[in-house]
Amino acid sequence: MNLLLFGAPGSGKGTQAEFLKEKHGIPQISTGDMFRAEAARGTEEGKRVDAIMKSGELVPDDLTIAIVRERLKQPDTKPGMIFDGFPRTLPQAEALDQVMRESGRRFDNALYLVAPEAELIARLSGRLTCPKDGRTFHPKFNPPPVAGICPFDGTPLIQRKDDTEETARTRVQVYLRDTMPVIDYYRRQGLVQEIDALRSIPEVRAEIEKALEGVNAA
Ligand code: AMP
Repeated sequence: MNLLLFGAPGSGKGTQAEFLKEKHGIPQISTGDMFRAEAARGTEEGKRVDAIMKSGELVPDDLTIAIVRERLKQPDTKPGMIFDGFPRTLPQAEALDQVMRESGRRFDNALYLVAPEAELIARLSGRLTCPKDGRTFHPKFNPPPVAGICPFDGTPLIQRKDDTEETARTRVQVYLRDTMPVIDYYRRQGLVQEIDALRSIPEVRAEIEKALEGVNAA
């Protein structure tokens, strides 16, 4: 199953991608995670990427497309994958279409987690992330059982540098500006199903599973 997961930052996309990854046993291709890993390596490119992420703007298309192209060569992507946070611009969508065609793959579904802007900003501001496994929590919306600690591996949670209110506003604006046209692009192909992201995490999860019923799991 090749699945596109859309939703502005704060829509719960990463959390749901985690469930899907476990349930369907296919990898999650998160360009945000890949860029954070590159930034953590502290290379020259990593430093440039880090500065862009902190501003809330997008990393240039050529670099983003290149890292995804490399990732799709890995054998674990053969049975399918979940795209989380990619493509975010029309040139990325067109490049991805080409890679998919070249490798004889196609998308089964595109899910769009819909939430109003004010809710997204509230969720992002103060969001906490596990630096080890990337899972996210929120003191109000998704509190971990022990405050400040990842329940999966015991790592102290951190606030991502781009999860401040100011950067959150930019990220949501950038999403609306650059990524809504991408969602329309897939909508025209009849692939998009909208999911109400305002519900609780288990309810959204159930709605996603329902939307995927009948989609070929292979
Ligand atoms: P995310 O974790 O998906 O919210 O991504 C965090 C940041 O990484 C974004 O605000 C962008 O700066 C960068 N980024 C992630 N994915 C992409 C992409 N597909 N295109 C360009 N920049 C991206």
